[in-house]
Amino acid sequence: MTYDPDNIFAKILRGDIPCDKIFENDHVLAFNDIAPQAPTHILVVPKNPYISMDDFSANASDVEIGALIRAVGHVARKAGLIDPGYRILANHGVDARQEVPHFHVHVFGGRDLGGMVRRDTA
Ligand code: 5GP
Repeated sequence: MTYDPDNIFAKILRGDIPCDKIFENDHVLAFNDIAPQAPTHILVVPKNPYISMDDFSANASDVEIGALIRAVGHVARKAGLIDPGYRILANHGVDARQEVPHFHVHVFGGRDLGGMVRRDTA
């Protein structure tokens, strides 16, 4: 699989379409999800073109990987989620129903998030 430069997060990173930005540095952009599944639902993405967790974990530099994890912690703290708690999630591939083929970490919070993995047919 090759990276699709026309995926929606690539367009956001290029500034072709807007986003509700939460945080940005040299390596990472974080913005609110357009269809939030919790009161807080932030997406944290690397700026370089990695397709998924598999691509990112295999090919990103240690600096990029560190920057992404630091950014996830930062946005969760900034959103006030430390005491109530939060969940991070990254979908890779078909079984996980990854929709956007640019690696991203979801940060969910602001309510009881329920059990960790649920089977459904939606
Ligand atoms: P995935 O299923 O790939 O892990 O998650 C993709 C996420 O991207 C979904 O939660 C979806 O709501 C979000 N999303 C899709 N298009 C846009 C968009 O144009 N802007 C923003 N901010 N989020 C988007």
